[in-house]
Amino acid sequence: TLDTRHLQQLDAAHHLHPFNDNAALAKRGTRILTRGEGCYVWDADGNQLLDAFAGLWCVNIGYGRKELGVAAARQMETLAYYNSFFQCTTEPTIALAAKLAELAPGDLNHAFFTNSGSEANDTILRLVRHFWAVQDQPRKNIFIGRHDGYHGTTMAGASLGGMKGMHQQGGLPIPDIHHIDPPFWFIDGGDLSPDEYGLVAARRLEDKILELGPERVAAFIGEPIMGAIGVYIPPMTYWPEIERICRKYDVLLVADEVICGFGRTGEWFGSQYFGFQPDVMTIAKGITSGYIPLGAAMFNDRVAWVLKEQGGELAHGCTYSGHPVCAAVALENIRIMQDEKLVETCRHDTAPYLAERWAQLGEHKLVGEARIAGMMGALELVPDKRQRRFFRERGSVGGVCRDHALAQGLILRATWDAMLLSPPLIISREQIDMLFARTWKALDATAAGLAA
Ligand code: PLP
Repeated sequence: TLDTRHLQQLDAAHHLHPFNDNAALAKRGTRILTRGEGCYVWDADGNQLLDAFAGLWCVNIGYGRKELGVAAARQMETLAYYNSFFQCTTEPTIALAAKLAELAPGDLNHAFFTNSGSEANDTILRLVRHFWAVQDQPRKNIFIGRHDGYHGTTMAGASLGGMKGMHQQGGLPIPDIHHIDPPFWFIDGGDLSPDEYGLVAARRLEDKILELGPERVAAFIGEPIMGAIGVYIPPMTYWPEIERICRKYDVLLVADEVICGFGRTGEWFGSQYFGFQPDVMTIAKGITSGYIPLGAAMFNDRVAWVLKEQGGELAHGCTYSGHPVCAAVALENIRIMQDEKLVETCRHDTAPYLAERWAQLGEHKLVGEARIAGMMGALELVPDKRQRRFFRERGSVGGVCRDHALAQGLILRATWDAMLLSPPLIISREQIDMLFARTWKALDATAAGLAA
């Protein structure tokens, strides 16, 4: 076993970290995590941390569930791998596809498996364009996403997303992808009520469709709640209006449920929280609670029928599409979620309690808005509580607050100056109280630093 310092040196020398300034990280020294149990993780120095971010929005059932290891081991011993290319597949793969069809809203009955959320979004870009092309509409190939949206890191995923920093690296977006402004009432809502603003923000989609021509627009893609940019929770009027617009122009509605899926909002899927029905959805993360990589694109009956009956051979797929070990782990994860009623407990008990405590954090002088939906929230840190505006040097405060939280034994993510929350769904009321106390202290320490 190597000591922490030595591991950090090797890490700095040989490991490029995603979404990091690697030079700065090498100087700071990487934190090395060694163990997890429930809502806690431990680092190599023995610090216990309350993980209020569930890894990266994904460890929904919490850490250390041995049943998932047992399911993986059993499948590895029985049949570690087979593909779904050679006119064959495996039992867990079929069972998972059927289980997802049962859970997914409406007639999203057909799963195409990938290794990640990014690949699921690549998949929908290609297969939705193919869907229109085989119906003699090859020009209907434009996707509309949103500025500041996040749909993953591959060429298609990062193009569908609207992160400027990502577009600047590698010459994105790829052609025929357009973006509209995201729904973010706190900054953009002016004097409108959130519900009025939700309609205004949604109608940007209609304007964009009309500008491009409905005969050219294949699909609109959005995260029900925009996660990575800072948990932008749209007003309840937003998604039903988006759905109405998509139906009007026969534009497919794609929900990227990579974060929101599998209970994050207190419903199985974010579309159920907001009351709309996607034609296509992408999932990953919570499908295995992050224990093993897996993603999927799910299609409704209409799209799947065309792909199957008219699409010919699907020229698309990964070696590990429908990997039996990943499928077995996903099935066990979903079994636990269902048997232990994790989504229901969240919806009726812990999420409302968390919302109460989160609103109390909203009273802190540094917090301009405390937004939350189910088990997904953000505290927007601001220079002046009476005004809805960012710090002049945006992003200068969030990282400081994140570090104060870590010093308190709490993991929160900072995006710009928003402190993001996404705990395991199993978080207890006592742990929510602990989360409250540690966050308040971190806010106090941050405010003291600003005043100094
Ligand atoms: N879509 C959303 C909404 C995400 O938040 C993410 C990852 O955070 C992705 C897609 C990409 O998923 P992955 O990192 O598994 O490729």
